[in-house]
Amino acid sequence: MALVDPEFTEELERFGVDTTLECFNCGTCAAICPLIYEHFPRKMIRYAQLGAKDRILENSDDLWRCLHCGLCTHTCPREANPGELILGLRRFVIANWRGTANV
Ligand code: SF4
Ligand code: SF4
Repeated sequence: MALVDPEFTEELERFGVDTTLECFNCGTCAAICPLIYEHFPRKMIRYAQLGAKDRILENSDDLWRCLHCGLCTHTCPREANPGELILGLRRFVIANWRGTANV
């Protein structure tokens, strides 16, 4: 069973992300993303909204698939900035690899 942390969106602000809750899960980013991979990046953003840190860490390899093309951010109807969100989640994962953040 996944654990959730309702404070995680605030924690993500330390990693440069303050738009997590803007996402309304429409799926446009997953449709436009050239990776066409398991609802990426929408699924990762949903994990972030829920504070499902263990899911983010378990699936962290997916974060490094991103090509930084910007299509998701350009087409997001909520200005949730999904491309930057992916970068912020990478920073979160790296901080936890180094043991410098509390999960
Ligand atoms: S990040 Fe934007 S495009 Fe992607 S699911 Fe959320 S609202 Fe839709
Ligand atoms: S920036 Fe990354 S997540 Fe967004 S559409 Fe491009 S490859 Fe996909």
